[in-house]
This record gives sequence, structure tokens and C-alpha cells, in this order.
Amino acid sequence: MPLTVSPCRQLCDWTRTPAVLDGQQVLACRGCGSQWVRGEPWTPAQADGSPPAAVLEELRRPAGAAGSAGS
Ligand SMILES: [Zn+2]
Repeated sequence: MPLTVSPCRQLCDWTRTPAVLDGQQVLACRGCGSQWVRGEPWTPAQADGSPPAAVLEELRRPAGAAGSAGS
């Protein structure tokens, strides 16, 4: 019997949103509607299982420096 794969896993496409929660940028999945901020204990994944670029970008930012431009 084949495993059941959630529709979310096949549709997940994480992107930034204009929303901010407690100073953290809110990212959302266009596939299933999930939302995520970097303080969450889990990490979103794209439909193919890879980490979304927007999420990696968010995790690379220094803590507490939301909105500041720097390299
Ligand atoms: Zn999703």
C-alpha cells in the first residue's frame, strides 16, 4: 500500500509576506496557507523537500536586526 502524501507537500511554495509578527517577517506557504516566522521551532520545506530560499535568507539575518540592511 503506497504512503499517503499530503497535498501540502506537493504544493508548498514559501514566500515572504508584508506581514510582521513581533518584529519578525512572516513567511507564508502559497500551497497550504501555513505561516512561519524564524522563532518557530520547525523549518518549512518546499514541495520537493528542499529548504525555501526565503526561509534560509531569513535565518541568516542577525537576530533582532529585522529591517536593517547589511552584509
Ligand atoms: Zn505548505
